Amino acid sequence: MRASRVSASYGARVAIAESGRFGGTCVNVGCIPKKLFSYAAHFREEFEIAAGFGWTVEEPRFDWATLLANKDREIARLNAVYERVLTLAKVEIMRGRATVLDKHSVQVNGKTVTAKHILIATGSWPVIPPIPGREHAITSDDAFHLDRLPRRALVVGGGYIALEFASIFHGLGVQTTLSYRGKRFLRSFDAELGERVAEEMAAKGMTLHFGGEPVAIAKASDGLEITYSDGPHQKADLVLFATGRKPNTANLGLEKAGVKLAADGAVIVDRYSTTVVDSIHAIGDVTNRINLTPVATAEAMWLARTLFRGEPTAVDHENVATAVFANPNLATVGLSEEKARERFGAIDIYKTSFRGLKLTMTQHKERTFMKLVVDRASQRVVGAHMIGPDAGEIIQGIAIAVKVGATKAQFDATIGIHPTAAEEFVTMREKAAS
Ligand SMILES: Cc1cc2nc3c(=O)[nH]c(=O)nc-3n(C[C@H](O)[C@H](O)[C@H](O)COP(=O)(O)OP(=O)(O)OC[C@H]3O[C@@H](n4cnc5c(N)ncnc54)[C@H](O)[C@@H]3O)c2cc1C
Repeated sequence: MRASRVSASYGARVAIAESGRFGGTCVNVGCIPKKLFSYAAHFREEFEIAAGFGWTVEEPRFDWATLLANKDREIARLNAVYERVLTLAKVEIMRGRATVLDKHSVQVNGKTVTAKHILIATGSWPVIPPIPGREHAITSDDAFHLDRLPRRALVVGGGYIALEFASIFHGLGVQTTLSYRGKRFLRSFDAELGERVAEEMAAKGMTLHFGGEPVAIAKASDGLEITYSDGPHQKADLVLFATGRKPNTANLGLEKAGVKLAADGAVIVDRYSTTVVDSIHAIGDVTNRINLTPVATAEAMWLARTLFRGEPTAVDHENVATAVFANPNLATVGLSEEKARERFGAIDIYKTSFRGLKLTMTQHKERTFMKLVVDRASQRVVGAHMIGPDAGEIIQGIAIAVKVGATKAQFDATIGIHPTAAEEFVTMREKAAS
């Protein structure tokens, strides 16, 4: 979408082939509906918190069918907006599955189209491991269209999609287990974030199971029976695997056209998102670099600039901020403590943990956590991490400072907004570790 529109704005003649719905994973079965569900799930705690402020809230009731219908209406609206945007940009729309024939031609619905440049932006798809009974399990794609909410759900995985769906189910009143074969969630994040978010999720009543994974799923009279590699059995009405996604390159004709793929199927590209075939390019999840929407759209704009504005622009994957919309939210930018230690040797760590002001008149004990990672030699803040309400909103602002290389002294010279949680990022004075 983005590559088409921006390339057209630079004067290129562009056609786009789409086999599904406009907006791709993010709009249809990713970021957007996920965040809408996440808002829905968070209301449960908001009703409880409201009581501490004097509100009487009658026993809240949740209706899944209403959420689903409203979500579908919003997604349909977005699909139409996206299509209109393409039409206005004079991009030719071809509905159907495309395959690559050679370095300059593509086939869509039996029709061959030739072009100077071909861009592969086919994304990725969720995979369920080949265990007995896998047909009883679902993926995140299916979770957006469930006829009804299960009574008991098992979510499998330790990445952000697993944490988010476990939080969604739990918030909507489903008895939820989150099972991860490793020891700590969110492996690529700062270790403390993974540990602390697990503590908070457990405190909210989710059942967490580490160190084992489902090896079989069988239908039982009262739901599904799950057997784990480390021994236990469990019953659930729904099993959602969020254990990984694969680049969408199967039967796309890429190898025949000379494009090199990695072992996991990802298209191999250079810093300009070009494959070994100089007329074929690839961006987004299909290249399995950083699988996030804003990264895919940035790669699209850099490629359009390279190809059609005569400004070769290499990808910049440094300091990409990201959030996990679990309950609690968490977000991060830059290096984890572990990565910073590896890269710089001497580092300083600043951190704080507190109960947010909004919770002080309630029974809720959740703690907000913030951490800054500073390179000792240059005093630059090289990582900022947070668990707590609106972590994504807050870290987005901090990300600008980290991206421009702000020092700890510059953070300290910034006057905070009081009373906020975010002000703690500019008032952490005591080193917690070095
Ligand atoms: C549950 C979930 C939640 C997520 N949440 C977030 C989030 O909060 N924030 C975030 O930044 N990212 C999130 N992501 C990741 C984000 O959705 C992806 O990184 C992003 O969509 C990648 O964009 P893309 O253009 O590479 O691929 P996609 O969005 O997958 O688009 C690929 C498109 O290509 C089409 N297609 C595939 N093959 C063909 C073919 N042969 N011919 C024609 N068309 C084809 C598909 O129909 C699809 O429309 C989430 C993903 C999931 C699954």
